[in-house]
Amino acid sequence: MKKLALITGVSGQDGAYLAKLLLEKKYKVVGTDRRSARSSNWRLKRLGIENDIIFEEMELSEIYEIQRVFKKYKFSEVYHLAAQSFVKASFNSPLNTSNITGLGTLRILETIRSMNPKIKFYQASSSEMFGDVLSKVQNEKTTLNPQSPYAISKVFAHYSTQNYRSSYNMFAVSGILFNHESPLRGEEFVTRKIIIGLIKILKKEIKFFELGNLYAKRDWGYAKEYVEAMWKMLQQKKPDDYVISTGKTYSIKDFINKATKYLNMNVSWRGHGLKERLVNNDNNKTIIKINPKYFRPAEVNLLIGNSTKARKKLKWKPKTDLNKLIKIMIDEEIKYS
Ligand code: NDP
Ligand code: GDP
Repeated sequence: MKKLALITGVSGQDGAYLAKLLLEKKYKVVGTDRRSARSSNWRLKRLGIENDIIFEEMELSEIYEIQRVFKKYKFSEVYHLAAQSFVKASFNSPLNTSNITGLGTLRILETIRSMNPKIKFYQASSSEMFGDVLSKVQNEKTTLNPQSPYAISKVFAHYSTQNYRSSYNMFAVSGILFNHESPLRGEEFVTRKIIIGLIKILKKEIKFFELGNLYAKRDWGYAKEYVEAMWKMLQQKKPDDYVISTGKTYSIKDFINKATKYLNMNVSWRGHGLKERLVNNDNNKTIIKINPKYFRPAEVNLLIGNSTKARKKLKWKPKTDLNKLIKIMIDEEIKYS
């Protein structure tokens, strides 16, 4: 009998890569999306798996929709990836973010507890929970200090997952994943935004684009590898939480410097503060400007993860460094743009 897995948020970056991985492992995959998202399965199409997934509509704000899906199928594993996942947007819609990203997780946990507590559950926790970091390098024991409605909602979901594990003996785990990127990353996230912007400049489709804080640092890994860790967490004997990260951190500016180098662009940084800009040395034209509208009311300045536990217990380790990740993202963006 094939194992049956549910992936919430199958239309997102991680949902698509995870669906591909589980199908390769001979799982049957049910994936949920929202009615409004039905037409945008571009990631699943790109991976060539759109017709291999059983789609169900499931809006996370509606417990009846969640229960309907759990009544229809006998899942052995649930990967809960759906969320309002964009930090910046969470400042504009804090109530919706907590309802979807926070309470949405609790609705699923409660459904599993009441209908079949043997189902294994994966929660997509985030390094954003560390926020204004209380330790220079962050691991599973680092105190959480969230700085956005998104991160606060993830903390609620994270503790709810731990609470259902300890209270009801459920196999419920949280993967605390640091930022992970890929050609399938949403266009609003900074890495893909930069790559799309630079390619449009080279094609002369735009003259410049705008960014916010260039000095925040992130521990960026490759999404395709990170979903393997999710699967491994659910194959362990005991449920536990794991940090998944590369252990290296780079600023947004570092990322731009590496991307422009790979694209062979002759550029230099000029000016300071709000006037800081990236200039094309060949024609002296500005191609990246700062716009304060991209600043966040509270920023997470530095994230570096320590994934020793996952490396030891899950036998997982990152294989793709930032240079290679940028190459993968740029090559695929050029191919499909
Ligand atoms: P995406 O934003 O690419 O995907 C999120 C998914 O959630 C989409 O399928 C989206 O559907 C769905 N969704 C959003 N709102 C709702 C809703 N109200 N009801 C049902 N579904 C909804 O995120 P990623 O794939 O990058 O991330 C996966 C998970 O991991 C998220 O929970 C994210 O917060 C978390 N995470 C991600 C990190 C990263 O670096 N990528 C780091 C740490 C954690 P639609 O297509 O309609 O938008
Ligand atoms: P996050 O870590 O989940 O918030 O991922 P993002 O890719 O959205 O942002 C990473 C960092 O890039 C944050 O510190 C942002 O403040 C910074 N950043 C700077 N300019 C931009 C921008 O134009 N868009 C986004 N999304 N982030 C930006």
